[in-house]
Amino acid sequence: EGVGRSAARCVGVAKCRVEGPSSGPGVMCPSYRATGEEKHSTRGRARLLHEMALGEVITDGWRSEEVREALDLCLSCKGCRSDCPVGVDMAAYKAEFLDRHYAGPGGLWRRPRSHWTMGRLPGWLAHFGRGLNAAMRLPFAARLAGVTPERTMPRVAERSFAYWFAQRASTRPSSLTLWPDTFTNFLAPEVGEAAVRVLEDAGLGVDLPPGRVCCGLTYVSTGQLGAARKVMRRTLDVRGEAEGPVVVLEPSCAATLRTDLPELLPDDPRAARLAGAVRTFAEALEELAPDWTPPRLDRPVTGQTHCHQHAVLGDTADRRLRERAGLRGDLAGGCCGLAGDFGFEPGHYEVSVTIAEDQLLPALRTSGGATILADGFSCRTQIGDLTDLRGRHLAEVLAEGLEEGLDSGPRSSAS
Ligand code: SF4
Ligand code: SF4
Repeated sequence: EGVGRSAARCVGVAKCRVEGPSSGPGVMCPSYRATGEEKHSTRGRARLLHEMALGEVITDGWRSEEVREALDLCLSCKGCRSDCPVGVDMAAYKAEFLDRHYAGPGGLWRRPRSHWTMGRLPGWLAHFGRGLNAAMRLPFAARLAGVTPERTMPRVAERSFAYWFAQRASTRPSSLTLWPDTFTNFLAPEVGEAAVRVLEDAGLGVDLPPGRVCCGLTYVSTGQLGAARKVMRRTLDVRGEAEGPVVVLEPSCAATLRTDLPELLPDDPRAARLAGAVRTFAEALEELAPDWTPPRLDRPVTGQTHCHQHAVLGDTADRRLRERAGLRGDLAGGCCGLAGDFGFEPGHYEVSVTIAEDQLLPALRTSGGATILADGFSCRTQIGDLTDLRGRHLAEVLAEGLEEGLDSGPRSSAS
């Protein structure tokens, strides 16, 4: 009912039905632009949810297959949350719908397999680590995991970021907590290592949380809200009464901590505290090391602004940091089309590629050797899957500049 009432806020002006390719910085609504079908637009979905709540045309409520199908191509990109004039938040409604759709007797078995594999990825990685690489090489592994055969599963790294961090000695007093999100920790530890390199060059002391933490993103996006709340509460227990900024390198995890965490645990004051402590990498450098000058890289860049960065976090601090580092050019807007588990699920590949064609792939085709920036693990995976190029996190590019000995350090008084 809450979802139906919220969806009823849609006033039908149809900003979400801008036909592609989109212009301007907005994200909403990639699945409509890819399909051109009303039912795959934010408005189409909002209407169906409203009808479900009224119970006149759609009479089977949360069990409705019609609603489930309409939500199936929603990427949970959160574009509508920021771009729709009345803030229809389809990603949140989809999570709630899936949670209720699969609730009750037999619900567990009705879920797509990808909810158990991709949706619970943080747990699998924490328990099996690199063992998953061998498992994914087995025949039919992708099918068993509910992953579309056009995709290859990302490889788990040799050593996790947290392991690397624990092996090194640092005597600096801590100025911030660096969040070892699942993607950085297990799949792209080089991003975490680069971030430590840059943050320390800026004079900041880095700490990791004292135990295993997870924002709950994959549980939320697959509508496993009970499990999501459990994971979030455990994370809050680990953080305890710790204070100070929490730097999150993966935009979708930062967005989950800022929005979904306090929304799913409204009665836990620790949730709002953690949400308020979250900083992106660029925000942290700007706020905590205002006198630091980034290495002068002086080169053109292109790439992908993560859809959650656009919708929740904002990219003004990133733009300023890029400018100060001499990284010229704009990144593509919109959505990369992979969007976490979405692009891996059977039946989504074609739409995923069509969405990448909206802005990302044209930008890469004309990149002419520019450095490719993509802070999101999904965006980097999409770039690697669909082109010969490699996207990198801004932290990696800055760290490389430091290794090359390009100028950095305290800002001179003249600047
Ligand atoms: S979902 Fe938002 S942008 Fe789309 S028609 Fe409704 S109010 Fe307008
Ligand atoms: S979350 Fe993204 S894909 Fe889903 S309705 Fe909103 S804009 Fe469209």
